[in-house]
Amino acid sequence: MMTKTKLDRNSLAVLEDKIQRITTDEGAIYLVGPIRLPVNLYGETVVFQWYCWLNGKEVIDDYVQIIDKLSSANLAEMQQSSVLVYGDFAHGDDAIIRLHSICHTGDIFGSKRCDCGYQLKQSMKIIADHGTGALFYLANHEGRGIGLFSKAMAYILQENGYDTVDANKQLGFVDDARDYSDALLVLKALRTKPVTVMTNNPKKLAALKEAGLKVSERKPLWGDVSEYNKKYLETKVNRSGHLKEEERVCPND
Ligand SMILES: [Zn+2]
Repeated sequence: MMTKTKLDRNSLAVLEDKIQRITTDEGAIYLVGPIRLPVNLYGETVVFQWYCWLNGKEVIDDYVQIIDKLSSANLAEMQQSSVLVYGDFAHGDDAIIRLHSICHTGDIFGSKRCDCGYQLKQSMKIIADHGTGALFYLANHEGRGIGLFSKAMAYILQENGYDTVDANKQLGFVDDARDYSDALLVLKALRTKPVTVMTNNPKKLAALKEAGLKVSERKPLWGDVSEYNKKYLETKVNRSGHLKEEERVCPND
C-alpha cells in the first residue's frame, strides 16, 4: 500500500507497540502510551506514565493510515484528553482516580474564581502519595462542557449577578453538559479492578457505575476556598447537587 508518511520500519514498530485501539459505539478511541513524564509537583520530581487519546469516527486497523492523517488533521484546533498514571495501575489493589475537567483559567492561569488549578495539583499529589492511581485530564469539558468562549460570556453574566447555573442557562446550555464515556472506556482499557474515586460530584459516580465500573469508595477532594470563589462553591452545593459532607466542599468537580 502506498502511504504519505516518511515513517521507516523501525519508527512504525516503536509506535505500533504503544498504540491501542478501543472500539466504541461511534467508532474508536486510539490510545497512545505509556510515555514517561517526570513532573514538578510542589518542588519534587514525580514520574508519571502519560497516555493520550484521540476519539475517531472510523475503526482503522492499520496504524499507518492513522499516522498518515495526522499532519493534515489539524489536531491543535481540537482538544485531546489524556491521563497521568502512577504506580502499578493495571494490577495494584487499591487505586485512586480523579476525572479532572479542563479549566483553562484555573489550571493554566491559576484563576481564583474557581479552584481547579489547586485541585489538579492536589489530586496529582494524593495519587502519588497513595502509590497507585490515575488522573484523567478531560479536555472537552471546559466550562462544564460549554467551551472556553462561552465560559467567558458566562463569567460576564456572573459578574452581573447570575450564579453559575443560571449564567449557563441564559446562554442556552444545560447546567452540566459533560460526557465521561471516552474517559471511562480508557479507564477500562487500563484497569479492570475497582477504583476509589476522588470527587464530590454524584454525577461522576453515577457515570462510572453506569459504565459498569467497580467503584470501591468515594474520597472527597477539598477545595481552596477564597473570597473569589465562595459563591461559585455554594452554588455547586445548593444547585448542582454536589455532596456536602465536609465543612468545605470541592468545586470544579
Ligand atoms: Zn475552574
